[in-house]
Amino acid sequence: MTMTTTTTTKGREKMNNAEYIEYEERLTPMNYHPAPVVISRGEGVWVWDLEGNKYLDMLAGYSALSFGHGHPKILEAAFAQAKKLCVISRAFHSDVFAQFAEKLTGLTGMDMVLPMNSGAEAVETCVKCARKWAYTVKGVPLNQAEIIVCKRNFHGRTTTVVSFSTTEQYKHYFGPHTPGFKIIPFGDAKALGEAITPNTAAFLFEPVQGEGGVNVPPDGYLKEVRSICDENNVLMIADEVQTGMGRTGRVWACQHEDVMPDLYCLGKALGGGMYPVSAAVGNKDVLGIFEPGDHGSTFGGNPLACAIGLASMQVLEEENLCENSTKMGEYFREGVCAMKSPLLCDVRGKGLLNAVEFKLEAGTAHDYIEPFLKVGILTKDTVEQVLRFTPPLTITQEEIDWALGRIERVLCP
Ligand SMILES: *Cc1c(COP(=O)(O)O)cnc(C)c1O
Repeated sequence: MTMTTTTTTKGREKMNNAEYIEYEERLTPMNYHPAPVVISRGEGVWVWDLEGNKYLDMLAGYSALSFGHGHPKILEAAFAQAKKLCVISRAFHSDVFAQFAEKLTGLTGMDMVLPMNSGAEAVETCVKCARKWAYTVKGVPLNQAEIIVCKRNFHGRTTTVVSFSTTEQYKHYFGPHTPGFKIIPFGDAKALGEAITPNTAAFLFEPVQGEGGVNVPPDGYLKEVRSICDENNVLMIADEVQTGMGRTGRVWACQHEDVMPDLYCLGKALGGGMYPVSAAVGNKDVLGIFEPGDHGSTFGGNPLACAIGLASMQVLEEENLCENSTKMGEYFREGVCAMKSPLLCDVRGKGLLNAVEFKLEAGTAHDYIEPFLKVGILTKDTVEQVLRFTPPLTITQEEIDWALGRIERVLCP
């Protein structure tokens, strides 16, 4: 192989973090602003950079890595399936899809699974499902269906999904926007009741807003949403791409209030931290409205994805990760509160979906990414003042103690 630039002549394996970053930045548009570290290996909750420095991964792939890096059981399932059959497309049946779907219907208490790859595709699937349901079941006049969403939502980056974002940058240059969405405040059930019209197909929301700042709604919100949707014949669509699979201490965050939505959007951790696996899950009377040709995905539901998704759900149960998420989450929040950091105005979260909010005079959350990196903690801001701590659900108390010691150095300078 001919190396044409000065940095590459060194060979990737001999580069330090800064040299590799310069090399990479010439080769990709800046649609992300990564922290200045090059990760080359991960195991459990830990990762290592090119220079051999070790970090605790408290971003965990935006909650995709709920089982940690390279979970041995999920890896084993992936290897075994990869050797047998990886991709066939749903033009044919494959012998792992039904096992995956059955496990997921068992975990959700619903009838059917429509498999996709990314979280945004799961959301798009639910949007299409809600619209077709509105026209064919509810009787909304064609092209008049409305979907209600929340302020500060995050449901992905596709053109339709950014059309109803309230983050200006996500949508500003990407119009014309898809119509048919109405925005209300999050955590306000009364606002939902008032926004519904005869043309409302669905209410799409996150049970705890992740990217919008780890916003936990008031107790009773999910139950109220459920009854308002029932009274008005409106579908309740819970986007649990981030909150699902034990992240908040229950398998699905809706279970905190014993509520079952009409559709779940799932993704992230469903892929075991090693593969994109997402799905729309619902009962037959809703999800069953799709007919051949309505919707699809070349890679959605491929055998490798299904084997990994199945193993992920098994690990979630076998290792009691919901319980660990609850316990370690409480322990973490208590530990951070006990620091009485002069920089913070709030510590919040549910299970291991946690965040701290910086006082305005302390600077933005983004300013703290590098200081945390320097003490061996990987994390990322959500909105301006809010920094998340969302480690793998497999984290131990000892590892949390390690993290708290490092976090204190930054929060209590
Ligand atoms: C991350 C996320 C998505 C989008 O998932 P991608 O896999 O990045 O497309 C959708 N909804 C929520 C709540 C998310 O956190």
